[in-house]
Amino acid sequence: MHYNEALTNAAQAFEIYKKTSPAQRAQLLRGIAEAIEALGDELLEIASRESNLPLARLTGERGRTCNQLRLFADLVEEGSWVEATIDTALPGRQPLPRPDLRRMLVPLGPVVVFGASNFPLAFSTAGGDSASALAAGCTVVYKEHPGHPQTSQLVHKAITEALQKNGLPKNVFQHESGGVEVGQELVTHPATKAVAFTGSYQGGKAIFDLAMQREVPIPVYAEMGSTNPVFILPEKLKENTTELAHQAAASVLLGSGQFCTCPGLLFVPELDATDAFLETLEAELATAAPAKMLHDGIAGNYYKGLEKLLKAEGVQAIVQQETDVLEGRAALASTHVTQWLQSPALQEEIFGPFTLVVTYKSKEELLAAAKALKGQLTCTIWGTDHEQELQQKLTDVLRDKCGRLLYSGVPTGVEVSHAMTHGGPFPATTDSRSTSVGTYAIKRFARPVTFQSAPQALLPVALQDENRSGLWRTINGKLSRSSL
Ligand code: NAP
Repeated sequence: MHYNEALTNAAQAFEIYKKTSPAQRAQLLRGIAEAIEALGDELLEIASRESNLPLARLTGERGRTCNQLRLFADLVEEGSWVEATIDTALPGRQPLPRPDLRRMLVPLGPVVVFGASNFPLAFSTAGGDSASALAAGCTVVYKEHPGHPQTSQLVHKAITEALQKNGLPKNVFQHESGGVEVGQELVTHPATKAVAFTGSYQGGKAIFDLAMQREVPIPVYAEMGSTNPVFILPEKLKENTTELAHQAAASVLLGSGQFCTCPGLLFVPELDATDAFLETLEAELATAAPAKMLHDGIAGNYYKGLEKLLKAEGVQAIVQQETDVLEGRAALASTHVTQWLQSPALQEEIFGPFTLVVTYKSKEELLAAAKALKGQLTCTIWGTDHEQELQQKLTDVLRDKCGRLLYSGVPTGVEVSHAMTHGGPFPATTDSRSTSVGTYAIKRFARPVTFQSAPQALLPVALQDENRSGLWRTINGKLSRSSL
């Protein structure tokens, strides 16, 4: 009953919050960022204790969280994200007149957000999902991740303070803790209008299935991970052998591999240079200092996943270390692409500092592997200018497999910006049409409404004739900042 109450409260608060102006919502988001900063080092120390992540990493993550909130504040204030579109009436049109039609995006209603274990700040309480939902005008019921409860409660306190300072109801953002059954009740409550989730495939898919079985199904934006394949082309490998091995190793080891963009698959051509590439990669992974993983469950899953993979036919271990309960020790294995193509299990994400090298002999084998891929958050192509034809062929395949396609650099490190897509086809996410990072994430929590032949006084400000804020709107098919 308690959780029913949370959603009932969220639905009531939505009636007030949906009427706030863009300036009010921008002020709230900036206020939350300030209140989080005001928590000072206590927040970082608690987060570090709960997640085993180092203070330096958490300092960066706090900066990212606050910048994200401010980016959404700017977006909302600028206003054109609502896609205001006006088709003026054509009363004299034959054979039938056209009515006045005005469309914009409006918030969905209460959103349930599940926090992620691997980003206690940036993908949790006041992270991207909550920030984009609040920016859109939705109220939020947040399900705390059990890996960092105190961090979460502290951030909740900061959000509540910001709401109070801005004269908004405290139920615009509510915080719930508890186990799986709590999450399930939140997802199935009739007042819930959408769900955002970051975590495991099992968790995300279970929540998605639950939402689809509701009497009134709702959208679920679950980001569930990826193996983030890197395709290394022959000339590139020959020209940059050790540099590429260093780059790959650093990306695999970053944060003990606990990023959803960790490159878990490396497609490497069989050449003279391959041995040198593998030796460098092996040396870096074998000597990397192990760090404590986020929690026992994640460490346990990592070693279980490794054990299963290393038993698979045609897979050779290159770096295999003793397993430890909490420390994530790096591992490396290899297989040939023909074996990989026969074993769908070799496509599964192993969340931790591990990568599987898949060797190939011909470009046909490489393209066959690209075509066999499941949906990914990212794909990366490392090739030279002379290898443009193969790069083009891979691009044609991989564009439909992922949310972000890289041509240099590594997939770890996701920029929070306007052009970012952190999403991708299933099973990377349950909805490939959006992103969970960057400003486009706001569209997940809004839907279009068309007002037909509406009196000026009843129209939202963005759709009125007078364009007081100089908003970019589409008027009769043309972008414009003018009033009508
Ligand atoms: P998780 O097990 O998916 O849990 C995430 C959240 O979802 C938790 O709050 C959990 O609640 C809830 N949940 C899980 N299953 C549910 C269900 N059937 N119904 C309702 N709620 C459910 O993720 P995790 O604890 O962060 O890590 C476990 C594994 O997820 C890792 O080993 C890794 O493989 C993967 N992971 C992937 C990413 C990524 O970015 N792709 C990030 C982190 C983790 P309770 O905790 O209360 O059970």
